[in-house]
Order: sequence, then C-alpha cells, then structure tokens
Amino acid sequence: MSKFDVPYKIYLDEADIPSSWYNVRADMKNKPAPLIHPATLKPLKFEDMQPIFCDELIRQELDNDTAYIPIPEEILNFYKMYRPSPLVHAVFLERLLDTPAHIFYKFEGNNTSGSHKLNSAIAQAYYAKKQGLKGVTTETGAGQWGTALSMACAFFKLECKVFMVKVSYEQKPFRREVMRTYGASVTPSPSMTTEIGRKINAEHPNTTGSLGCAISEAVEEAVKSEGYRYELGSVLNQVLLHQSIIGLETKAACDKYGIKPDVIIGCAGGGSNLGGLISPFMGEKLRGEADYQFIAVEPASCPSFTRGKFAYDFCDTGKVCPMAKMYTLGHDFIPSSNHAGGLRYHGMSSILSQLYHDGLMEARAVEQTSVFEAAEQFARVEGILPAPESSHAIRVAIDEALKCKETGEEKTIIFGLTGTGYFDMTAYEKYNDGTMTDYIPSDDDLAKGFACIPDVKL
Ligand SMILES: *Cc1c(COP(=O)(O)O)cnc(C)c1O
Repeated sequence: MSKFDVPYKIYLDEADIPSSWYNVRADMKNKPAPLIHPATLKPLKFEDMQPIFCDELIRQELDNDTAYIPIPEEILNFYKMYRPSPLVHAVFLERLLDTPAHIFYKFEGNNTSGSHKLNSAIAQAYYAKKQGLKGVTTETGAGQWGTALSMACAFFKLECKVFMVKVSYEQKPFRREVMRTYGASVTPSPSMTTEIGRKINAEHPNTTGSLGCAISEAVEEAVKSEGYRYELGSVLNQVLLHQSIIGLETKAACDKYGIKPDVIIGCAGGGSNLGGLISPFMGEKLRGEADYQFIAVEPASCPSFTRGKFAYDFCDTGKVCPMAKMYTLGHDFIPSSNHAGGLRYHGMSSILSQLYHDGLMEARAVEQTSVFEAAEQFARVEGILPAPESSHAIRVAIDEALKCKETGEEKTIIFGLTGTGYFDMTAYEKYNDGTMTDYIPSDDDLAKGFACIPDVKL
C-alpha cells in the first residue's frame, strides 16, 4: 500500500451509516458481570433500575444476547447531520515519523459538542422523549458529555439539568455557556441543592468536586424530580452499544478500501469510545474470524486497567448508584491535582474490564507530558487540535509506528481521535509554559483508594 493508494479522507456515503448498533456482549463467552444492588447484592432487575433510567435504555443495558439492535429512524436522521465521520489516513504524520506503518484515525470531533459523546446523547434523549419524560439529569466533568446531552435534549425539547464538577464550572466558563445556549441548566457540584451535595460540602468545605460526586447529585435529583430520569455518558453497556456506530463505520470504510488493521488503539476514560471503536473488530476476534491487537490507553495518574483491581465497586462517591464489576481504583480515588489530561474516572466499563481480564485486549498507561508532546506533533502536521483525552491514543499510535520503523514492519494502525481540544487550552497553556508535570501515584496512594472497595463476591 503506498501512501496515496487510499484517499486522504475516507468518507462513507450517507447510505453507508449503519442501520443497527452492534452489541459485542452477544459474542462474548464470558459476559460482563451484572450491575448489583448495593444493599441486597443481587443483580439489578428491570424494575430496580426504573426509577433511575429510561425503560428502553434499561432493556439495552440488560441485553447480553441480541447482536444487532436497529437504530430508530429519528436517531439515524440526527446522525446524518454529522455522520458518517471520516476515517483519515495520517499521511503527514507517517511522513514526519518516517515510518513504514500505515496510520489511520477515526475523527469524532466534527460536531459542536466536539466529541463522540453526541452518538450516545442523542440516543438517550430520544428514548427519554419516547417515554414521555419531562427531562433528564446528568453530570459532566470537563464538559463534553454535558454539552452533547444539552444538544440532544434541545433537539427533542427535553429539559436538561447538568451537575458540573465545580473546578471545571469555574475554569471552563465557555463550556458552561454552550450548554446554557442549548437550554440546559448548569449547577456547580457539589451544590447545596441536593442532600448528598450538602453532605459533601459539609465534610469537605473547600472541595472542587469530582465526577463521582456529581454523579451522586444527578442521580438524587432525577429520583426526586417527577418525570425525570438520569443519563450517563460512559461506562454503561448501553453507551458502548450506541458508540458501536464508530466501529461499524470504521469497519465499513476499511472494507471499502481494503484496509486490514493490525492494531486498534483508543483512549480509555470510562471505556465508551474505545468499546465502540473496537466492538465489531472484537466480535470478529471472539468468533474466530480474524485477529487484531487492541490497546487501551489511560493516564499514568489514573491507571484503572494497568494498576486497578477487578472487583465490584460503587460507580460514584456518594454510593447512591448500583455497583459494577470493573477495573477500579476505588470510588474515593481522585487523581492528583496536577492532572490536566482528562480520563479521570476511577472505574471502567464492565464489558471492557471483562475483555481485558480475559486477555483479549491490552492496556498501557502514559504520562501527561508525553501525551501533550504527541498532541503537539500531531496538531502541527495533521491540522486538528486534539483533545487531551484523544491524545493518549495518539501517543501510543506514534509509539507503535516508531516501533515499526525499527523493525521495518508495515503494520496498519487505527486509532480513535475522539475530539477537539479547544476548551482545554488551560492544559495546553501549562504544557506550552513548561509547567506541566507528571505524577504517578505510589502504591501507597493507590492503597488508600483500594481500601474503600467493598468486599463483595457473588
Ligand atoms: C469523554 C471523552 C473521552 C473518554 O470517555 P470514554 O467513555 O472512555 O470514551 C475521550 N475523549 C473525549 C474527547 C471525551 O470527551
């Protein structure tokens, strides 16, 4: 394959947008462990989840068997506004690295929310509307999910209450204003409007908040508000299902141009973009039809896969949510304050956790200064200013391509470029000023988080 055997950007036709999501659980021999009730420790049933989630989304959450789930037409129509997303041949990056490897990236940043999160937001808003609900609540950390859900709710005329981690609320006023423009109400978390928020504020008066804490507030708010449900932008099975659109399109583009990836790389926060990107390829691997190397990339300062425990843990700090079996650093874990690169969630998708546990996938932890180095290299030749989260995947894609330079191997590498970094300029500023530092938690630091993981065995 010479560099220009395939076009620089591989756009599919509108008609090539997949009409079903693919549910990788259907092909997994070892299914992901079910969510359990924190009090009874029994797997959650449909009725248990009804006060929190929309009915149809619960069905998707619990469905381990249906391989293809049709995408409702209204969601498909919305997808057509910004999909198919391009699979880009990174010819300029290849040239810069002087590597025999072929590098491609699937770019999900071409929509106003700036990331892949809109793929699930629009689905979740649709099912809430279809159920006749008044509105939804959610949390947002850096703000991408809150923005995506605000856009989706505006489209379906639903109310949207966002609890935004206080430090981001203060440091990212523009994200907040995008959400408000789309009609969402945005409350800094911990707030004084929920019981759990008041409790956390009383116990930690100067806290700048965390994702786990904002989740607790959003769930409480949904449960106590008539006609409301809670929606989550990552980690859950249903979110990976919706994000499979990324992988299905990638697969379609590969098939159209005769590209066969050897390595597929994605950053991992809660696991939704990576899970979505690899799903159809993982399906082939699970069915014994093809083999691929999958690599999850996480920050060294929040190393859920590479140093976490595979155990049942709470999904939130306030312990109001169900428990999930996953690779976790403990629900009290908060990455060190110098951490600027996103992907700061303590846990990981149960699906990916099981696949990783079964040796079907690898994981690497990378330090943030090396991530921003990769981001800068990429931005200067490929034009796109990548989100810090996405740049974790760029880091490892570059590392793999440089390995190929040493061995002379012509591997084909695909990575997920999940979004743009325009709202992350404070992090870039630190990098540009040379004040960005790395902090790798010590075993003692991690032990504190592990100590709060409940001792649950089914
Ligand atoms: C939220 C986000 C991520 C991480 O979330 P996953 O669920 O692990 O995909 C990665 N990149 C961007 C741009 C994001 O907004």
